[in-house]
Amino acid sequence: MPAQISHCLAAELALKRVDPNLAEAWGMGGELLAAGTTAERAVETASWFRFGAQGPDIFYHNQRTKPSGIHYGPLAHKRNYGLFVEAALRSLIEAGLSLDGPEGAWILGYSTHAALDRALHPFIVHFAGWQAPLQPESARYRSCHPFLERILDILALERLAHRPVSDCDLETLLPLDEQPSEAGTGESVAVHAAESNIADIIQKGLEGAFPHAASADFFIGHRIANAISDSRFFFRATNPSRTSKDNSSFLAHFDDRSGYRAVALLYPRQTGTGIDFGNEAGAAWAHPAGDGRESRESAATLFDKGVEAGAASLRLTLEALRSGGIPFGFATAIGNGGLSVNDAEGFPVPPRISHPLPLAELMEAEFACRLEEAKGLVTGRS
Ligand SMILES: [Zn+2]
Repeated sequence: MPAQISHCLAAELALKRVDPNLAEAWGMGGELLAAGTTAERAVETASWFRFGAQGPDIFYHNQRTKPSGIHYGPLAHKRNYGLFVEAALRSLIEAGLSLDGPEGAWILGYSTHAALDRALHPFIVHFAGWQAPLQPESARYRSCHPFLERILDILALERLAHRPVSDCDLETLLPLDEQPSEAGTGESVAVHAAESNIADIIQKGLEGAFPHAASADFFIGHRIANAISDSRFFFRATNPSRTSKDNSSFLAHFDDRSGYRAVALLYPRQTGTGIDFGNEAGAAWAHPAGDGRESRESAATLFDKGVEAGAASLRLTLEALRSGGIPFGFATAIGNGGLSVNDAEGFPVPPRISHPLPLAELMEAEFACRLEEAKGLVTGRS
C-alpha cells in the first residue's frame, strides 16, 4: 500500500480533476493538502474524504485493540474491491445519505484507493523485496516495503505540493478526534453520527465483497470500530509534523525491542543519500510477477497513472451518488482484481523477481540516530 500521504494526495488530485467545484466546496480548491481554510463542516467532510482514501489499509493499522480486523486488510487487497465499493455505495444511497456530507466524501475517497495501489505496488515490491518464510537470508527485507512507501510519500509531497514532509500535519487533515463517549450536543453529535454511519457502510461493503467471511463474523462491528480507532492512533503517532520536529513524539511509535525495524513506519529524516528511490533515471525493472513484463517507469509516472485511474473510479461513484442509481458493470469498472502483484489479467500472484534498494541499511542508520536521541530524552541528556 502506498502510504497515507500518497493516498491523500492522489484522492485530492482525482477530485480536482473530476469536480473542481466540489473540491473547492470542501476546501481543496487551492494548495494540495491545505487544511482548515474553509468552514468547519467542510473541513470535517474533507477529512473523511482523506480517511476514505486510506481504503482498507485501516485494517492493517488495527494492531492494538481486539477483536482485531487486521485480516480484512490482506483480504480486501486481494480481491473484490469493486464489489466492496458497490455494496458500500448501495447502502449509502439506501440510507438516504447525501453526497455533501462525511459519508459521501468517505466513499469518494475510498473509490480512489485501489487505483493508486495497483499502479504503484509492482514498483514498490520490486525495489523493496520481501521476506520469504523459507529463506532466512530474506529476513533482511522485512519492513523494507512500508519504509520505501514512506520515502515515496516524501518524494510525492515534494514534487506535487512543494513541501517538506515535516510540514505535513496529518492531525489537521484526517478526522482524528475521538468520537464522544456520550452523545453531546451540536457538532459532536454530527461527528459521532458520521463515524457510526461510515462504520456501517464499511460493514456493508465487507459483507458484499466477502459474504462468507463477513456474514459469519459476529464481531465484525467491533473489528471495524477498532480498525478506525487504531488508525487514529497510528496516524497521530507517526504524524511527520510531530516525529520530524518534536524530538520526543517519535517515541509513541518507537519500540527498540524490534531493532532497526522500529523506524519502518516513521518518515525518515534523512534520505539524501544519492539513491534514485523513484527511478527518475528510467532504469529498466522487471515486473515482480516474473512473467517477462518490464518497465522503465518512475514512481512519479506510476503515481500520475494511479491518479488518472482513481479519477475514473471517483467519477463513476460520484455519478451514482448524484443519480441515486448504480449502473450495470460498476464493480467491474472499479476492478475486482488484486491491489498488489497481479498477473497480466489482474489476478494476484506471489512475487518472484526483485532488485531491492539498500533500505535495511537506511533503516539501521535512521534507527541508530533515533535511538541516541531516545536515550538522551530518557536520561535527560540533550
Ligand atoms: Zn492499500
